[in-house]
Amino acid sequence: PSALRVENLGLQIGGATILKDVDLDVAPGSLVGVIGPNGAGKTTLFNIVSGIMTPTAGRVLMNGEDITTMSVPARARAGLGRTFQTSSLFPKLSVLENVRLAAQVAVGRDYSLFHFPSRAGGAKKDAATQRALHNLDEVGLTHKLLTPAGDISHGDKRKLEIAVLLAMDSKIVLLDEPMAGVASGDVTGLVDNIRELQERTGCTVLMVEHHIDVLMGLVEKVAVMYFGSIIAFDSPAEIMANPLVQSAYLGTAA
Ligand code: ADP
Ligand code: MG
Ligand code: MG
Repeated sequence: PSALRVENLGLQIGGATILKDVDLDVAPGSLVGVIGPNGAGKTTLFNIVSGIMTPTAGRVLMNGEDITTMSVPARARAGLGRTFQTSSLFPKLSVLENVRLAAQVAVGRDYSLFHFPSRAGGAKKDAATQRALHNLDEVGLTHKLLTPAGDISHGDKRKLEIAVLLAMDSKIVLLDEPMAGVASGDVTGLVDNIRELQERTGCTVLMVEHHIDVLMGLVEKVAVMYFGSIIAFDSPAEIMANPLVQSAYLGTAA
C-alpha cells in the first residue's frame, strides 16, 4: 500500500473552506515536496495528517490503515514524525537532551527528564544516550552537545530537528518549511541532511518548501496546493512546465 494516502480530505471552519477534496498518494520511501502560496493549506494538511486537526470530510491512511481518528501520540508511535514551521525543540534543554528524549521513546522508555547524564560530564552512556550521540553525529552536531537548543543557529536547529526524527525512528516524516530562515550557505547542507535521512532510514518524506529550485534534484514529486486544493502532483520538471501552476503563482505574485 501507499505509505501515506489522503482521500477527499476537506476542512471547513466557521463556514470557510480551508481544504477541499484533497487527494494525495505517496509511495513508500519517496521524497515529496509540497508547494503553494501562503494560506493555500499546506500546514493545515500536515496538521490533519499528524492528528493535530480533525478533517470535516475524507480520511487519512498510513500504510493502508485508516488513521483519521488516531491520537497524535499513537500516530507518533506508529512512525509519523513532523517538524513545525516554528521550532518544536525544547530551548532550555541541551542539544543532546533534546535528541535523547526522542531516543528514549524509540528504545522503549517513558519520557523522563530525570535520567539524563550530568551536564558536568561523566555521562553514563545508556542505550538512549548512545543512540542520541549517533544521530547527532549523523547530522554533524557533536560539537554542540551541551549547548541549550535555544542558543544554536537557525540552521543548526533544523539539523537538530532531523536528529530528533532519526532518534524517533520515524517512518513518515513531515517537514514544514525546513529551509525557512536558514542562511543560504547552510541550505545545501540541510538538503544533504534530508537526503541522507531518507536514504539511510528508507523513510517517506513530505516537505513544504516555497522555492522549487530547492526541491529540484531532491524530491521525486511535487504537490502544488492552491486555495485548499491540490492542483497538480508531478515531477519537479513537469510542475515547472505546468501552465496551471504558473498561472497560480503569477496570479498571487503581487
Ligand atoms: P499555508 O501553510 O499553506 O501557508 P495554512 O494551512 O497555514 O496555509 O492556512 C490555510 C488557511 O487556513 C489560511 O487561510 C488560514 O488563515 C486558515 N486557517 C488555518 N488554521 C485555521 C484555524 N484554526 N482557524 C481558522 N482558519 C484557519
Ligand atoms: Mg477527490
Ligand atoms: Mg504553512
